[in-house]
Amino acid sequence: MFTKLKPRHCTPSVMELDLAHLKKQGIQAIILDLDNTIVEWGVTHVSPELIAWVAKLKKDGFKLCILSNGMPSRVQLVARKLGIPAVPRAIKPRRGAFLKALSLLGTSCDKTAVIGDQLFTDIFGGNRCALYTILTPPLSNREFLYTRMVRIIEKMVLNYMRRTGVL
Ligand SMILES: [Mg+2]
Repeated sequence: MFTKLKPRHCTPSVMELDLAHLKKQGIQAIILDLDNTIVEWGVTHVSPELIAWVAKLKKDGFKLCILSNGMPSRVQLVARKLGIPAVPRAIKPRRGAFLKALSLLGTSCDKTAVIGDQLFTDIFGGNRCALYTILTPPLSNREFLYTRMVRIIEKMVLNYMRRTGVL
């Protein structure tokens, strides 16, 4: 029942992502959610730690792309600061934007991971495209009222998955 909602992997934060594990899975590219995954919700400030992390991944040979439901001006601003491409206004979990990110990256779904903080957009959308899905807790509690309401259901699903050993 929850197969499309189940992340393949979980990480405490993007910074703590196990790159060796990803390499072992054949992952060559990572699609990054923006809000509450790599930056706090609604901001364009990029921390030196994030810049260093992105540089390290690029040096390790990973291709990166931001995929966000956010507005183009803000999403592209962060992407420019990090020197990576972006697909804004993605309407996740719809498949189209994930496929656009794959074409920007020039990789196939079996070699690409997606990391995000939301089960019903990042993980569900990623699983629909057969990507290697990675869930990370949100960086802050600040988010849309709508998202905060969805979180209640998300928590119930996550708790259920943990209880039943799915996760
Ligand atoms: Mg997010």
